[in-house]
Amino acid sequence: MSAVSSPYSQYVVAKFGGTSVADFDAMNSCADIILANRDVRVVVLSASAGVTNLLVTLASGCDKDKREKCLKQIRDIQYAMIKRLNETDVLKEEIEHLLDNIATLSETASLATSEALTDELVSHGEVMSTLLFAELLRQRNTDVEWFDIRRIMRTNDQFGQAEPDTNQLNILVAEHLQPRLNNTIVITQGFIGREEKGRTTTLGRGGSDYTAALLGEALSLRRVDIWTDVPGIYTTDPRVAPTAKRIDKIAFDEAAEMATFGAKILHPATLLPAVRSGIPVFVGSSKEPQASGTLVCNRTENPPRFRALALRRKQTLLTLHSLKMLHARGFLAEVFTLLSRHNISVDLITTSEVSVALTLDTTGSTSTNGSLLTNALLTELSTLCRVEVEEDLALVAIIGNKLSQAKGLGKEIFGPLESFNIRMISYGASSHNVCLLVPGRDAEQIVQALHRNLFEN
Ligand code: ADP
Ligand code: ASP
Ligand code: MG
Repeated sequence: MSAVSSPYSQYVVAKFGGTSVADFDAMNSCADIILANRDVRVVVLSASAGVTNLLVTLASGCDKDKREKCLKQIRDIQYAMIKRLNETDVLKEEIEHLLDNIATLSETASLATSEALTDELVSHGEVMSTLLFAELLRQRNTDVEWFDIRRIMRTNDQFGQAEPDTNQLNILVAEHLQPRLNNTIVITQGFIGREEKGRTTTLGRGGSDYTAALLGEALSLRRVDIWTDVPGIYTTDPRVAPTAKRIDKIAFDEAAEMATFGAKILHPATLLPAVRSGIPVFVGSSKEPQASGTLVCNRTENPPRFRALALRRKQTLLTLHSLKMLHARGFLAEVFTLLSRHNISVDLITTSEVSVALTLDTTGSTSTNGSLLTNALLTELSTLCRVEVEEDLALVAIIGNKLSQAKGLGKEIFGPLESFNIRMISYGASSHNVCLLVPGRDAEQIVQALHRNLFEN
């Protein structure tokens, strides 16, 4: 699909994250951005900051005291905004209805929770933020329409990390969304969808970025704007290394690599639709739109050897020992079949003669139990081999270009890390990254040391 041939090719989709819609003043800054650019026709919102986490806690099943505390916090966030709007009777009724739903579903979750119930509960965050924001824009004399994304975002039923059906999305967008764009600004929810039976699903934590990119692709828009709380993509998370520098322009594959390896600034799947359709993605701060931001696009001139560092915490390393591996065939196939049956995707992997070490990909799910390692999985694995589990590790990814062809890389990377333990290294499969598995407690210092040596000289 070519962005140029579309009748919507001058339009832009703007996505605002949780901190951007945290309160009335933050929402007003988002409204300023939208009103300053007449090409913004689709607006995708996250839940207000903190709300998704509170809903996830409720979905995990809480006692009455904790439940009431969480419900009050959610209510307070909504009412702090309602109070700043005029004549809000209809809006209040809608929000009250949603708060009642949340209370009922939380009570059910405290008796028996499920992934489907979690997604249903969690979706209320985005529904409330979009209702509030649509009203705020109306009160600023803007013609807007609140739109339930579940009408068009069909997904499979993998609750917590559902996969959107892009063919259906294209058809439904043409039917329901496109006709609205010429007359109004559509305000809709990120992160949520609906499966075949009509139950609500979610696309994984941080999934609103992905929603925006999918809509940009389905509508062949000119650009996807991701407005967040930092003015662009930096050489590493500026909260970890305050000396991080903004990258003004970055190629799709480099940014995708960053997102995959944990740079929270973009949901890992965000760039898939953008790459498929060649639509550039802009990342900027809704608090400082004048500070500009980062443009993610097809190519950049002279991409540097080292582009960025990403950090992913809470990694688990599984080491599987078995003499069956010695000169045998099929052991790894058995292990992978088993992991796949337990719906686990493997991240890093290294092998030796009689053992294989691997980390599990835990990114994104709203799953409330955090770890993917269930007793059932461990029991099954232990029938095949001896299993060792190490937790509290972190993955540091060095992202760059042509790394597998570089000379002297070992010294540049490992020189500054001589006082740290490196538990596992993954290098060679991609020319874009070198991954280090390190003790969680050292991760920030390792990122800072690498940043000083690779980016500040
Ligand atoms: P939103 O709620 O707007 O989606 P997120 O919290 O998901 O925002 O993502 C923004 C955060 O991502 C920043 O506050 C920053 O701490 C973090 N981050 C991680 N890596 C990077 C990076 N390389 N550049 C900029 N921010 C990063
Ligand atoms: N509200 C969801 C979350 O906190 C989705 C998002 O913010 O993108 O994960
Ligand atoms: Mg995010």
